[in-house]
Amino acid sequence: MKNNPADWHPYLAPYASHVSLCRGRLHPEPEDNYRTPWQRDKDRILHSVAFRRLELKTQVFMATEGDHHRTRLTHTLEVAQIARSLARCLAVHEDLTEAIALAHDLGHPPFGHVGETALQAMTNEHGGFDHNDQTLRIITHLETRYPTFAGLNLTWETLEGIAKHNGPVKPPYPYHLAAYSQRHNLDLKRYPTLEAQIAAIADDIAYNSHDIDDGLRRHMFTLDDIPITPIIELRKTIIAQYPRLTLRQQRHALVRELIKVMVADVRTTSQAAIDAAKVKSNEDVRNVPHALINFSPQMNATIEQLRAFLSKKVYHHPQVDTAMNNAQKKIRYLFTYWQRNPERLPEPWAQQFITAHKQDPSLAARILSDYIAGMTDRFALQCHQRIDDERKR
Ligand code: MG
Repeated sequence: MKNNPADWHPYLAPYASHVSLCRGRLHPEPEDNYRTPWQRDKDRILHSVAFRRLELKTQVFMATEGDHHRTRLTHTLEVAQIARSLARCLAVHEDLTEAIALAHDLGHPPFGHVGETALQAMTNEHGGFDHNDQTLRIITHLETRYPTFAGLNLTWETLEGIAKHNGPVKPPYPYHLAAYSQRHNLDLKRYPTLEAQIAAIADDIAYNSHDIDDGLRRHMFTLDDIPITPIIELRKTIIAQYPRLTLRQQRHALVRELIKVMVADVRTTSQAAIDAAKVKSNEDVRNVPHALINFSPQMNATIEQLRAFLSKKVYHHPQVDTAMNNAQKKIRYLFTYWQRNPERLPEPWAQQFITAHKQDPSLAARILSDYIAGMTDRFALQCHQRIDDERKR
């Protein structure tokens, strides 16, 4: 790709992703005069329908229950903020990091992980369901906003970062990636850029800290219940500095400090790993057989304890478990109902399902799982209610 004036960046390290090295898009397009290719990717993601729907999708708590906890959208924005900070202090490309962060959860079905479990079960014989794979499916296939191609036609680097959100991918590939990688080689065996690795770790930093905040706010546990020594120490330091803080102020300070400490830990640990690996380009980064962006072993141990604590107190709190079990049943019900009554689907889904079903039931199941996975919590609940009302009449 030609040199772009927008490649100018005062702090870009040699191992960063440079615009001049961008591998471009599957469907070639003229470059923009004012934005880097990754800025354009970020803008395309922001303007997509899938992005807007994140507003009403579960992160941990149902998006329709309460006004203050995180939804998939606010989680995504927090991930993007943390990822940008890390990208800047490690001198890599902020635009690419932000594009990957903004897209990373687009494929989540309604009701978070239980929505995914339900769709996995319903599509088990038809290729299964994976939210990460669905993200790739949305941005390369399901969003139709351009006259000459399906998908958002994002750059190779953004797609690479999304496909490898959890590191290199080994066969057998999930449903969509299996087909897509035939058309577009995303170099799945190697690690992605530092920008992609940063977006992935920013996801961990965001949810580990905001789930403490949301759990405390919803009285699922108290500050005194947290049994993790480094977090207890952090709170003691806050109280020593500001002895008159209310519990609510302590909560805010603790979450803020926790993000700060995790970001600082990733920055120091990763910079040391980057220096030790002597990487000089982003190709060198891909050739390192392990991730370069990491927490320190001590921080990993703290996070492990924190996850175990959150899992018990928040993710499996009876309130959450009951709501999510009900939600999972509703997704299974919707899937089965439309599979048996495809003529009740709205158009164009009904026609697509019926036509596909004549050729291949797996194709039809995929259409149905695309339709349901795209729903917000609110819309899924409304559909379920409507069908239930009709049944009772
Ligand atoms: Mg996430």
